[in-house]
Amino acid sequence: MKVKNNVAIDGPAGAGKSTIAKLIAKKLGFIYIDTGSMYRAVTLKALQKNYDFDDHGALARLSSEVKIELFSGAQNDFRIFLDGEDVTEHIRQPEVSRHVSLVAKIPQVRKNMVRQQQIMAQTGGVVMDGRDIGTRVMPDAKYKFFLTASTEERAKRRHLELLQQGYEISLDTIIAEIAERDNIDQNRAVDPLVPAEDAVIIDSTGLTINQVVELIVKHIDECK
Ligand code: C5P
Repeated sequence: MKVKNNVAIDGPAGAGKSTIAKLIAKKLGFIYIDTGSMYRAVTLKALQKNYDFDDHGALARLSSEVKIELFSGAQNDFRIFLDGEDVTEHIRQPEVSRHVSLVAKIPQVRKNMVRQQQIMAQTGGVVMDGRDIGTRVMPDAKYKFFLTASTEERAKRRHLELLQQGYEISLDTIIAEIAERDNIDQNRAVDPLVPAEDAVIIDSTGLTINQVVELIVKHIDECK
């Protein structure tokens, strides 16, 4: 598998991964792939169809039945289609964020998503963001980064994003939800959220998006 030149960006919710990954992809002329959107899409379908989130067998089957298509345009204007429908905005609903970790911790769901992600990575030239990209999806990626920031700062960023999208949720609620999601992601049995041993860890607390992008690009240039 030729994945050597790929870029893996992992980290907890709200660390700025997607914004940063998109900018890096643009700078390198790479394709941006948001793997979290795939777990979100399965979760959206489960919510629409009133699935029981404790029924892991049913959710695993659902994850193999749904058709997920990702599109990354020239400007990295990423879009996701679920069974033919554009759900790019729908998957950001707070209700999806609240349930997604429960779906993503199911081993068979992960197996189905990872398989599709590895196929997308095969050609090389991708910037992929997620939780297990450097450890599971592309362990051979040449460039691996783990972005982190304090829970407070991550919650503030998420809060602002949600307000801009028209969702009125208190900061305290978001802090609690992010902490809960981190907890499930870090402690699940399969491919938990941990930095790959060879990942460069960047704490973005107090840094601007551009400062983080510069750090990453500098590191990639130095390793070329
Ligand atoms: O990146 P985002 O916050 O959209 O991811 C939503 C959720 O999907 C994460 O909290 C995590 O539970 C799951 N996820 C995962 N592995 C990935 C990407 C996301 O488990 N590679």
